[in-house]
Amino acid sequence: MKTAWSVEFTRILITLLSTILFGLVSEQWTLSVVIHSSLYIGWNVYQLRTFERWIRNGAPASSAPNASGIWELIVQHIHRTQKANKDRKKRLSKLAGHYHAVMSALPDATIVLNDNLEVEWANKTSQQILGVDPNRDTGHKLTNIVRDTHLQDLLERKNGKDELEMVSPIDPLKTLALTRIQYGKEKTLVTARDISQRIALQKLRKAFISNASHELRTPLTVISGYLEMLDIDDDLPSSMKRIVKNAHLQAVRMDKILDDLLVLSKLEEKGYSEDSGDTVDVPALLNRLVSDFQKTKAKEGHKLELVVQKDLLVKVVEAEFYSLCQNLLSNAVKYSPQGSLIKVCWSLNDTGNACLKVIDNGEGIAPENISRITERFYRANVNRIRKVGGTGLGLSIVKHILENYGGYLDIQSELSVGSTFTACFPRNRIEKT
Ligand code: ADP
Repeated sequence: MKTAWSVEFTRILITLLSTILFGLVSEQWTLSVVIHSSLYIGWNVYQLRTFERWIRNGAPASSAPNASGIWELIVQHIHRTQKANKDRKKRLSKLAGHYHAVMSALPDATIVLNDNLEVEWANKTSQQILGVDPNRDTGHKLTNIVRDTHLQDLLERKNGKDELEMVSPIDPLKTLALTRIQYGKEKTLVTARDISQRIALQKLRKAFISNASHELRTPLTVISGYLEMLDIDDDLPSSMKRIVKNAHLQAVRMDKILDDLLVLSKLEEKGYSEDSGDTVDVPALLNRLVSDFQKTKAKEGHKLELVVQKDLLVKVVEAEFYSLCQNLLSNAVKYSPQGSLIKVCWSLNDTGNACLKVIDNGEGIAPENISRITERFYRANVNRIRKVGGTGLGLSIVKHILENYGGYLDIQSELSVGSTFTACFPRNRIEKT
């Protein structure tokens, strides 16, 4: 760089000396300045023209202007920048190629949609499990390629969910789990995973539980029958009385567990449905249930208070609704002290869902257990369970019933203060009177 500028300065110096010499010899100073500055400017304009032409033609290295001085320096800078750009481009396209290969090889279908929900990019798996051909379908709306109303709702964010399970449009034996991810400005990434194997395993597990429960039922009924006979037999030696009584109690409990397991597997088999069931007069049902409880559990001495919105009816299977209420109410009785108040409310909540609230002033649930008590066989206080009995399946049943109707269970609780269980049914289940 130093030499290029020295060449340029030498050139300017020679021009100046030549101007002075010519001026001294000819005594024509103006003419000397005009001639020499014209020569210098003309030479530079010529270089500029050659240079502009070279750049206009893409500045190929092979035909770079044969310049010296500052012009040579500029040519060198352009060369260097061009080379750096070329190297960066190569690196970027290598990286892009690498990512493209990784995305294409992903076992999950991956589709990029633009703001009109048209396919911008899709990998090979998209073709295999969703029927979206990256070559044929780019630029087409995904909902025109895969015709499914739930997918349409998912993409248009109608159901507020980001995930969906659907049968593959290519292979009816495959179940897919779709996820929608919003990124950048109005871009959507849709991924689909084949979960057929997981579903098959789940089915197998459910079938096993259901079959085992059925098979155990008959022998258990026989054992329970014999134990009951022995329990009431006056000739039984007194040393055996307590043993037989305990064994009978455990057999009855096992029977109840089998009952609940069968109920659960039936609920799982049924799954979510939009409009199953009939109109249930919930206020009347709750009146019946509460007075039954008052009669049968009178010895527990709980006070039951019922507050209902009289015209609020829902479309559900009555037996399921009854079982839900019964489970929540019997838990409130089991886990709160004798004589305490239990409140049962049936009304619309702020968001327009029909909700059953069961409020007790019992022992409450520790915060770390609240999210887990709807799991099968999960118990918050194992020592207490021994005294109160129970199967550990009641809340699982409640949760499943609600899920099948698109509802939810909310649990608020504080240790030693009490619990509020709120079972809500969505608006579409509410029946007008
Ligand atoms: P269980 O037959 O043991 O009552 P559930 O599924 O009905 O089974 O309840 C699961 C666990 O949740 C119970 O074991 C208990 O620890 C806790 N639980 C349920 N309801 C209440 C309540 N109203 N107050 C305190 N704990 C409760």
